[in-house]
Amino acid sequence: MFRTKIVVTVGPACESPVMIRRFLRSGVSVFRFNMKHNTQTWHSRVMGIVRQEAKELGVPVAILMDLQGPEIRIGQLEEKIRLTKGEEVFFGKKAQKDKKTVTVDNLKLLSSLPVGEKVFIDDGRLEMRVLENKNGWIRVKVLKGGILSSRKGINFSSIQVAIPTLFAKDFENISMAAKEDVDFIALSFVRDRKDIQRLKKEMASKNLEAQIIAKIETEKSLLHFEEILEATDGVMVARGDLGVELPLEQVPFWQKKIIRLCREAGKPVITATEMLQSMVESSRPTRAEVSDVANAIYDGTDALMLSAETATGEFPHEAVEMMAKTARFLEDKVDFTKRNNFRLRSQSEVVVKGAYDFIHGEFRMREPIKGFVILTESGRTARLLARMRPNLPVFALTRSRKTRDQLALSWGVVPFYYPFKKKSEESIQAILQFLKDEKMVKKDDLVVMVYGQVWGEPGLISTARLQPVP
Ligand code: ATP
Ligand code: MG
Repeated sequence: MFRTKIVVTVGPACESPVMIRRFLRSGVSVFRFNMKHNTQTWHSRVMGIVRQEAKELGVPVAILMDLQGPEIRIGQLEEKIRLTKGEEVFFGKKAQKDKKTVTVDNLKLLSSLPVGEKVFIDDGRLEMRVLENKNGWIRVKVLKGGILSSRKGINFSSIQVAIPTLFAKDFENISMAAKEDVDFIALSFVRDRKDIQRLKKEMASKNLEAQIIAKIETEKSLLHFEEILEATDGVMVARGDLGVELPLEQVPFWQKKIIRLCREAGKPVITATEMLQSMVESSRPTRAEVSDVANAIYDGTDALMLSAETATGEFPHEAVEMMAKTARFLEDKVDFTKRNNFRLRSQSEVVVKGAYDFIHGEFRMREPIKGFVILTESGRTARLLARMRPNLPVFALTRSRKTRDQLALSWGVVPFYYPFKKKSEESIQAILQFLKDEKMVKKDDLVVMVYGQVWGEPGLISTARLQPVP
């Protein structure tokens, strides 16, 4: 189909089995559930539908739970409030007479917000400065006015506020994630490696084995990006909040830089937010939006994400199709193997590079090769190959259903569940037969197989060999 993966945010606009099946047919392989919205019961029901539909179609699918995280929002307002530049407003727990008050959820967390700090509301549409902060009241001056409505997010210019990694609702959601056996957990507002470690600990205590996606959306996370990348399993360029915390003109620079570093590390990266935003209301996107999607593909992102377009938009399937078409066209035209100057750190990485060189090396084989066949336990070997963005499919066979589904996020990987046993010539022939039955390869096709010393044990990759299909 196409090699760039598509992540959709699930919401009321696409919760039906019919819609989910259409998404799967169009090539969507990851479904994101944003725990900021809706109830646990709703999420759990729709996760069930996704799993069921994927099972019936026989395709791998990953479920990504996006935790609410340390988020501060405007409370439930009785009516919308108009704020004008220059006026003073109070943030407090409950509305007060005579004073213009805005209620805030988790106000406690703002007690360390320093005077002089800039506060942004609703993705930066409104802006204010702190004049006074004491006794549960914050007096602010409006710098940029507008209409304020309930539940809008609040950001600060520099996060000096001591906020815990996980919030009350996050703990319940992690328990639910364990019950639903989700494949990925996304953490908002990651600041450094400690946030990841804290989440890991909590996940372990609840027996949740999901991989972690660190959402990069604060200046702090850019400052500590290297240590975050080392600690996490994957990354999301969360351009919504990043575009509030940073001047907008800096966001594309960081997007490209983050994608490059993730590729080098062989960890999947998702480009997110407003990719086809106008399709929330329109059946056709703008040229600029399609260019944005295309540019993320050129950058080498593993996956593209849709947010409101699929969660609440009027044209969810059209949005998915637009992304799919863009990916399909570009992947046919563009060679993604450029900029593959990775430093190799282990024998496994050298052997995987050797496999890649059968096709892309300076002295490559003349014979036409049809793809790579990777036997992998954790998925790591498949990702090490995929990071080089080879021009052929990477068939990844694994004995772990979890690994199969997690690989649904990695660029160019076509994952299969295959319960292989001992390493032997018969097993190798059986694997090739399996791929033939799956119609991935034909008799006499040549493939490059990659595997380790002992099958089923993650670790030392020792073999890359050319193999004809029987
Ligand atoms: P984030 O900052 O994590 O992106 P968000 O509030 O912008 O949070 P998105 O996940 O980007 O939320 O989704 C876009 C919009 O779609 C949300 O603002 C919300 O209105 C709606 N939405 C998302 N998920 C759901 C859901 N499960 N149920 C109802 N509405 C949803
Ligand atoms: Mg958003």
